[in-house]
Amino acid sequence: MTGITISKPASACSNAPPQISAGVPVVPDVMAGTGGCETSFACPRDSEDDRLPAVLISTIIHTTFLLLLALFTLPKGSRGADQLTARQGQSDKILVMRTLEAQDDQKYDKNVAMDTPVEVSIDASVTLATLGSETKEDKDEVVSSEMQPLVAGGGSTGSDLLVRLPSGGGLSRRTPEGRLEYGEKYGATRESEQAVEAALAWLAAHQRSNGSWSFNLDLAPCNGACRHTKKKGTDSPTPVTGATGLALLAFLGAGHTHHHEGPYQETVRRGIYFLRDIAGEAGAGLDWQQGSMYGHGIALMALSETLTMSSREQAGDADLHRLVSRGASFTCNGQHENGSWGYVPGSPGDMTVSAWQVLSLVAAKKNRVDIHTNTLSSAKAFVLSTCKDRDFWFGYKGPPGEETTTAIGLALMLYLGQSTEYTPFYNALTDLADRGPKFQNVYHDYYATLALHHSRHHAWDQWNRKLRDHLVRTQAKKGHEAGSWHFADPWGDIGGRLYTTAMCAMTLEVYYRYMPLYEKVDDFPL
Ligand SMILES: [Zn+2]
Repeated sequence: MTGITISKPASACSNAPPQISAGVPVVPDVMAGTGGCETSFACPRDSEDDRLPAVLISTIIHTTFLLLLALFTLPKGSRGADQLTARQGQSDKILVMRTLEAQDDQKYDKNVAMDTPVEVSIDASVTLATLGSETKEDKDEVVSSEMQPLVAGGGSTGSDLLVRLPSGGGLSRRTPEGRLEYGEKYGATRESEQAVEAALAWLAAHQRSNGSWSFNLDLAPCNGACRHTKKKGTDSPTPVTGATGLALLAFLGAGHTHHHEGPYQETVRRGIYFLRDIAGEAGAGLDWQQGSMYGHGIALMALSETLTMSSREQAGDADLHRLVSRGASFTCNGQHENGSWGYVPGSPGDMTVSAWQVLSLVAAKKNRVDIHTNTLSSAKAFVLSTCKDRDFWFGYKGPPGEETTTAIGLALMLYLGQSTEYTPFYNALTDLADRGPKFQNVYHDYYATLALHHSRHHAWDQWNRKLRDHLVRTQAKKGHEAGSWHFADPWGDIGGRLYTTAMCAMTLEVYYRYMPLYEKVDDFPL
């Protein structure tokens, strides 16, 4: 199996009628006074225009049919009921986005009993404390002038927030040889590698028949055999795209792709196909929200990394590139004017949702996907706006800072070009290392591990030894749960065992999953 063939969706930037996605009409964009699609965003070039006619005709026929169908089936008043306006960066252009309705995990799986969807946030590590604190400040969160020297101190020569992406962070060591060499170099052990393998086996055994994964372990194939499914009775969304993206990222991190012959080739292929099929065509791009921008960001990141790893083997796939490009477009258009992303596109957001968007856009950019000029610098402004007085003590939506959001903020700053040679920043990393892993909070420990790995911090070995051995020790060893993790803490409970297992696997893959962002790389970074 080489390559993915992705059917061409309806024209991405048409001025024409509403498009249909997943049974829901999507209003392409256009708000009064802005004059239509051409004002909203640049559509990526389609290199396949030369074989367009047949596809176009088919598209027109099908779109028209679906449109008529929708007119007959939609309840009155449902159209545009949940439209949102989004503003991109400094631009005065406005487009209308629509949040697609989340689909039941069962949608493509008729072999199991209907599930009552219970939606949960896959992270929520800090949302419990801060959710609902959305106030006037959300609108006023812009980087203050006194913060700007801090950015300049990070390697920029001016007072701007220009983002210069570091050249490291490549995926080239996700090979059997790379795992061996870089595992040894950065601190994997035989036991930690066995734990990764056991985690992947557990994840593969929990893939659903439609290629997806769900946080809800009461569904097939687990059917509740594992304890600690996603938390019930909460109204936070737990998008199937987020679960699927997280599981895929764990496989990709260990070098498994749909191109590689290996035990998980088919697993990865089916997961990617699921994400391709569930993508919602919106005027602003391709949408994987399924109820939350968490889902979109994580799915896009998985597809971006898939594309990078495909390109490495010169099996780069134009359709996959287009998918990532259109997904990145949706992300850019869904950014709030303060630089953050929220649960729904265009809303003021927080550090945790924004983190997935930033990481996925950086991954997309490595594939030469064009993203809006201001998106990353605006995101950096948001990250900086959550700390004060150059203390690199990052908060959820703003000060005060706390430990988990500080771990995320430090990692994001590295991805956004912050130099580790700036002493206050390096000291903040040292403080992070000194505080040590939280052990029960995988969200904190995952991002802290990324930050310390990417910066090649002097305390890495000490940090790694503690966390690595804790994870090896706490992995389930017996029975149906073997290979998985779950920690009893108020936040880790929410995404359940699937979320915890994927995050722990990625933490143990860190040695070879990413080349450090800030280390001299002597070969071509991907
Ligand atoms: Zn299970």
